[in-house]
Amino acid sequence: MKSPIFAANWKMHHGPSDATTFMRSFLAHSPRRSDRTVLIFPPALSVAAVVASLHERQDVLVGVQNIHWEDKGAFTGEVSAGIARDAGARVALVGHSERRHVFGETDEETALKCAAAARAGLTPMLCVGELLSEREAGETAAVVLRQLHAGLSRLEPGQLTSLAIAYEPVWAIGTGKTATPDDAATVHAVLRKALRELAGERGAKVPILYGGSVNRGNVSELLAARDVDGVLVGGASLDATGWSAIVGS
Ligand code: PEP
Repeated sequence: MKSPIFAANWKMHHGPSDATTFMRSFLAHSPRRSDRTVLIFPPALSVAAVVASLHERQDVLVGVQNIHWEDKGAFTGEVSAGIARDAGARVALVGHSERRHVFGETDEETALKCAAAARAGLTPMLCVGELLSEREAGETAAVVLRQLHAGLSRLEPGQLTSLAIAYEPVWAIGTGKTATPDDAATVHAVLRKALRELAGERGAKVPILYGGSVNRGNVSELLAARDVDGVLVGGASLDATGWSAIVGS
């Protein structure tokens, strides 16, 4: 994936019909660019609609917001990495803060999911981020490093370079509060150092995205921060015109 990466997390918004309408408008406003990566995480049932709308725009990638860690079996309601890949997804979000804090996903589950994604040929995008109480206690670096090491612990050495990380402070997601570019750069530097220690210079090239109340007004300054290779955008990615403006920043 070429940096900067602009990733849209639609969460539980835009069913197949809305997704098709969104994509028509978004593509009309966003010419193909070779200097960036655009990635969309629709709800699982809308992946096929988004993929279908991209038949002439292979420059835009599609991902899933979550996967199960088993390859197949009696797991009613779940989607495997292989099924997501077959539907056209290329990337899997793992450990988004809503998965961790609303659904109780553990570090060990994020490790299993990253491994399942890599096995199926999906790029895992592991999300890490601290709670406000953890930031106030001075624990930010320790928390994100714990989540990073745990989440990547089941990947083979050769898989450690085919991934992406999203730093998303929990207190900034959907709240309108954004980390300052300096705050983001500080945490990204911690993550970059850890990735270099894990996988050498190729590990240091793993893209690290920032997420948390990114919008048209703040995207440029966040992308200009050191070690910020892209943005993961929730609320501000739901409107096609607004998302086009962000992607064109
Ligand atoms: C997200 O869902 O990953 C996110 C960052 O949301 P928002 O942009 O709405 O804070």
